[in-house]
Parts: sequence; C-alpha cells; structure tokens
Amino acid sequence: MTMITCISPVNGEVYAQRPALSLEGAKEAVARARMAQKDWARRPLEDRVQLVLKGVARLNEMADVVVPELAWQMGRPIKYGGEYRGFNERSNYVASIAADALSPMVVEDSANFARRIEREPHGVVFVIAPWNYPYMTAINTVAPALMAGNTVILKHASQTLLVGERLVQAFVEAGVPADVFQNIFLDHETTSALIAAGSFNFINFTGSVEGGRSIERAAAGTFTSLGLELGGKDPGYVMDDADIDAAVDTLMDGATYNSGQCCCGIERIYVHETLYDAFVEKSVAWVSNYKLGNPLDPETTLGPMANKRFAKVVREQIADAVAKGAKALVDPKLFPADDGGAYLAPQILVDVDHSMAFMREETFGPAVGIMKVKSDAEALELMNDSPYGLTASLWTKDVERASLIGRDIETGTVFMNRADYLDPALCWTGVKETGRGGSLSIIGFHNLTRPKSYHLKKVTA
Ligand code: NAP
Repeated sequence: MTMITCISPVNGEVYAQRPALSLEGAKEAVARARMAQKDWARRPLEDRVQLVLKGVARLNEMADVVVPELAWQMGRPIKYGGEYRGFNERSNYVASIAADALSPMVVEDSANFARRIEREPHGVVFVIAPWNYPYMTAINTVAPALMAGNTVILKHASQTLLVGERLVQAFVEAGVPADVFQNIFLDHETTSALIAAGSFNFINFTGSVEGGRSIERAAAGTFTSLGLELGGKDPGYVMDDADIDAAVDTLMDGATYNSGQCCCGIERIYVHETLYDAFVEKSVAWVSNYKLGNPLDPETTLGPMANKRFAKVVREQIADAVAKGAKALVDPKLFPADDGGAYLAPQILVDVDHSMAFMREETFGPAVGIMKVKSDAEALELMNDSPYGLTASLWTKDVERASLIGRDIETGTVFMNRADYLDPALCWTGVKETGRGGSLSIIGFHNLTRPKSYHLKKVTA
C-alpha cells in the first residue's frame, strides 16, 4: 500500500501519513459522486449556497486546530491566523453573485418563442490543489463548483495532507452530503489513470507547470475540460512618479510574505533610474525587519519554507546569480535561524539580468531581484521577457499611463499600486505557461458550468 507523507518543515519529521487509494477505490469514490450529483443539482440554488457558507463558518470554528496544523504542515507562522480572511472573502463573494452568474441568458420570451441559454453543472469536478495557500486555492473552485450544482472530489498536496480532510469534515458537519464533497488521497500514477479513464467532467489543477503538463497529458483524448493555474514570475515596475514608500511596502510584502511561496508573489522588480537607489535601500531595510523562526512561535514573522527541497532551489538560484555577478544585499547574520535547510533568510539581489535563472525561472522563495530601467519601453520589454504571465504590478500616480502599459503586458492581471492580491470579483487567470481558464468572478461560474440552449417555439403555425 502506498503511503502519502507530509514531512513538516518545522522539524524535518513526519507530521502526517495517509494510505493512498487504489484505482478501484478512487473509481468507487467517483461513482458515489456521480450518483449524488443529480439530487444535489436539483436542490434550490439558495440551499446549496447556504450549505457551502455553513461549511465555511464551520471551518472558521475550527481555527484553533487548523492554524497550528497549517504551521506544522507548510510553515506559515501562526501569527497570521491561517488563511481565513481570503478564504471567507472569496466564499462570501461567490455566494453573493451565484444567482446572477448562474441565471439564464434570455434571448427572447415572446408569444411565439422562448429562447434562452441556461447554465448546467458539469457533473463531477476534480480539484487538485497545491500546498502554498492550501485553503484559499482549494476554495476558489470548491465553493463555486458546489454552489453551481457539481459534486466535488478534492485531492490535496502531500505537503498539506490534512487540509482536504479538514475542509470535507467542516462541510459535511455543516450538512453537505458526504458524497457531494469528498477528499481522497492519491499518488500521481493513480491520479493520472483516473483522469485518463474519463472519470471527471471538469478538472481544476493549481500547481507547477510540470504538474499541469502531466494533467493535460493524462486528460488527452478524454475531452475533459481543464482549468490550469500554474506558476508565475510576476514583475513589479516602479515608475518615476511612484509613491516610493508605498511601493517598497507592498512589493517587499508581495515578494516575501508566506516565505515568497505565492503564485502571484513579486519575483522581479524594475525601478526607474531616478528612484532606484532609494528604492533598493528602503527595500533592504524593510526585509531586514523580519523575524525568521519557528512558525509556532507567536513572534515569528517569517517561517521556514514548506520543504527543504524548495529552499534548495532558492539557494541554488541565488548562488548561481551571485556567481554570475549579482550582489546579495541582505546580511545573513541578521537571520541566525537560517539553517541551510528549510529555514531560509530573505534576500534581495541587484546587478541581476535576464541571463540568470533567478530572473527567469520561478523562485518561489523569499528572494527578489531588482533592476534599474530608463523608460517604460525598457520595463515593458523586460516584464514580457518571461515564459509566465500571471500578474504585473505597476507603480505610478497616472491611471492612463498604467492602463496604456497594461494593454501591452502579457499577463492575466494588471495591478496599479497594489500587488499579490486575488480579487474574487475579477477573473483569476494567466497566459503563456501560467496556464489557461479562469476562476472566481462570473467567469469562474461559467467555467464550472456548461451552456445549454433552449429554443422553444410556442406556436406551430
Ligand atoms: P505541484 O507540485 O505541481 O503540485 C500541485 C498538486 O498537484 C499537488 O496536489 C500534487 O500532489 C499534484 N501533482 C503534481 N504533479 C502531479 C502529477 N504528475 N500527477 C498527479 N498529481 C500531481 O505544485 P505545488 O508545489 O504544490 O505548488 C506550487 C506551484 O503552484 C507553484 O508553481 C505556484 O506558482 C503554483 N500555483 C499557482 C497558482 C495560480 O493561481 N496560478 C496558485 C497557487 C500555486 P503531491 O503534492 O502529492 O505531489
């Protein structure tokens, strides 16, 4: 029997283990979900919405367990109180738009014809979730999928093994039928085999580009709809008229919060030459204030990375960039907890360029590169010089200028004077290797349902 294991970044020891389901066991779970789906979809929308919100409320009641458990699994300091703010905000927002988003588009309702497009749930939705924001990334699909009348099967990341179990526990205790929302433990091979067997009507995968490729390959030929929310290398651009203190505050937070393990974290910053020196100096001071340490200590503001193998990637990228001429500005002596393993000090590199992996590949750690630019055109070229496109953060007082530059950025979201935030009213989407599809907003509901056309002629003459 294959065991799925979570090694805690807190102490490098096994924190949790669960047996993986066999392919037969997984197919039985899917069969139960399929059996339950039609009844679930027949319930009034408002009932489904209220049951999901009750599940969300139940998870909130479990904070005393969930928050330290999260720290043990992936290193998020307990000081931040888990992910409840974004988790609740997203759930409440999608609940508030569900009726509108799912209402029929009426083309004609006359004496002769009723013509309309209705939204039907896909059926069984499979959610494959990552560990970096394990509750928030999962709820982006779980909540609207259930509200829309799908049943959901969740397979969570090994690093956050207990998150799927907690979510389902909360929702089922709140009254969602057990077959409507199930958590399963799967290895990669069984996941692929299940997908290749055409088990699902829609799959949402959030994770790495390589993982996304495997899922797309597994689904090939099954015609299963896919949403792929993959990696990023998000840029910030600080223009000559920017509010420099606000830019430092938000961009440094965006680069380092959650130990830099955010899909839309800021990984590279381009600063106009007139502000460059001041921006770098203030950024180093900002980052140096972190307290790196055990995430269960209430004083800790920067926890370990989720796994020492993720920290190894960051260390290697930094070492490679430094060997190629980059300068590391944050004094490691300020961070005695850096153990060469999962506990990693934040870092800022200057004298970087795009020949370095550090400026091209996803770093996914508390480290960021800063480059000086002379013009919008130069910044634009650098921002687009990337295989990814999730968000871009522009800093200026000029909305027109930001909108104009925004038009030419190859990205899913253009931010002005903010970063690293997922607005549930807007579509969360990416371009290039960041994936395809879109979640949250009305568009998220549309992606979790299919259109069905009704063309009803009321007269026969
Ligand atoms: P990951 O290694 O790709 O894993 C994501 C999920 O997919 C996990 O549940 C993982 O299971 C599963 N998985 C990975 N490869 C698989 C395969 N070949 N077959 C079946 N299942 C597979 O990604 P991660 O390290 O958890 O998450 C970090 C990545 O997610 C980063 O690249 C980040 O940018 C991206 N991300 C993107 C967004 C977005 O909105 N665009 C949001 C959050 C994160 P196991 O854990 O068991 O391997």
